[in-house]
Amino acid sequence: MVELKEVELKDKSVFGQISEYNHEKVVFCHDQETGLKAIIGIHNTVLGPALGGTRMWSYASEAEALDDVLRLSRGMTYKAAISGLNLGGGKAVIIGDAKKDKSEALLRRFGRFVKNLNGAYITAEDVGMTTKDMEYIRMETEHVSGLPESMGGSGDPSPVTAYGTYMGMKAAAKKAFGSDSLEGKKISVQGVGHVGGYLVELLAKENAQIFITDIYEDRLQEVSSKYGAKVVSMDEIYDLDVDIYSPCALGGTINDNTLDRLKCQVIAGCANNQLRDEKIHGPALVERGIVYAPDFLINAGGLINVYSELIGYNRESAYAQTERIYGYTLDIFDLAEREGIHNQAAAMKMAEKRIQSIGKIRSTY
Ligand code: NAD
Repeated sequence: MVELKEVELKDKSVFGQISEYNHEKVVFCHDQETGLKAIIGIHNTVLGPALGGTRMWSYASEAEALDDVLRLSRGMTYKAAISGLNLGGGKAVIIGDAKKDKSEALLRRFGRFVKNLNGAYITAEDVGMTTKDMEYIRMETEHVSGLPESMGGSGDPSPVTAYGTYMGMKAAAKKAFGSDSLEGKKISVQGVGHVGGYLVELLAKENAQIFITDIYEDRLQEVSSKYGAKVVSMDEIYDLDVDIYSPCALGGTINDNTLDRLKCQVIAGCANNQLRDEKIHGPALVERGIVYAPDFLINAGGLINVYSELIGYNRESAYAQTERIYGYTLDIFDLAEREGIHNQAAAMKMAEKRIQSIGKIRSTY
């Protein structure tokens, strides 16, 4: 996956990469003393401040980190817009090994960069970050969401994200199999971290046959013994004869190398940017008869939960709003069919329509 990206990004300049996605602002954060190297992407703030988590990852190159933050922040714009939230899209990446390179000073230095954006960007937890890390960032800036309940926040968003993903998966199952029951369905879950773990719990309650994979052996054993899921290797996941494939690790796993290997009829997972190139792989899934549940639509539960924190947290209403993902997903399938476009394009169209119409209202003084 990384090798493929490297080839694609090799000849692109920084501005070449940025102009591709039409960002409002991209901030490069560097600090010699703490070793901080981070990028904040603010994609669009028409609907509100750009909200999106900070991810820490050992990227193979700086170009790959930039690509990730650009794609992720754009995804946040679509996610907020389609979910009816008054938020824009943003995201940050910190380049480094989350297990080795973190320090209080590095995280607080990053917090200073967020502070200097004066609320145009609101950060939250993402892959490679912990609640404790967010507490350090919060020491330097108030523009942090998704804090622990002990700090007056909404706590871990992962269970709500998993619930929304589950709703989207059920809607996709209804489209593909005529029923939204997942009982007996063979479902592969790639990545059993925070969200993947909660998703497996929901699938197990519905008596699905679950296959799991992850980098971490101990986590695999834990989830497997708790929910009776079968462990498979990281590469094997693409060749499994399953009904549903659920990408819950990192993005870009639906690409030229994996497409021909997939045997599922539905793809529905929580990972962001699952299609390596939506213009190529969106239509390719339609050709193969695979029902794809748009990632930014069905993984919006966490954002809905965090948004609820900004306007006065209420867990029940966050879950109720997340449950609507089921209906929205069916609406997107209808729109895609009516217009003869792929599902991701239909979801993007719906989100863009809202941004444009609200943008017009706000253009008057
Ligand atoms: P996490 O770090 O807790 O879990 C990810 C898991 O995937 C880890 O256990 C990791 O070891 C595993 N993994 C990484 N690469 C893998 C590979 N190639 N094959 C198999 N396993 C692999 O992260 P999370 O919070 O569960 O988020 C998972 C995905 O969902 C991410 O893409 C994230 O951006 C997205 N997402 C999360 C939330 C949320 O509320 N946490 C909300 C929206 C989207």
